[in-house]
Amino acid sequence: MTNADLIALAAEMTRHSYAPYSHFHVGAALLCRDGRVWTGCNIENAAFGPTVCAERVAFFSAIRDGARDFERIAVVGGEEGRITSFTYPCGVCRQVMREFCGDDFAVIVSDGKEIREIALGDLLPHSFSPADLAR
Ligand SMILES: [Zn+2]
Repeated sequence: MTNADLIALAAEMTRHSYAPYSHFHVGAALLCRDGRVWTGCNIENAAFGPTVCAERVAFFSAIRDGARDFERIAVVGGEEGRITSFTYPCGVCRQVMREFCGDDFAVIVSDGKEIREIALGDLLPHSFSPADLAR
């Protein structure tokens, strides 16, 4: 699966986004090393705290299904789902990725024209990980 394929799946997921407060619709597509893909969209809440990002919906769905070996995630978003700039994962999602992925895990983003690939190690350097608790 190409990065463009993964971006297309993420973009499709923005249509499922529930974002009546921010109007910022986000979609994510998470690729496992065995080729399976899980998708997610952001789901907001009137109480704000329970709001969850597209990336975590994808990750938690994959974890629920027994997947653990992840390769890449594509993330796109924009106001009312119009993708015109790069949407990078928030800090909470980066930490969730770190729980299951190494520094080489790839995060794919797009502004609708260009596709960029960034390593998780560059997005979340010097992070706290399961290895810190294994000592
Ligand atoms: Zn997030």
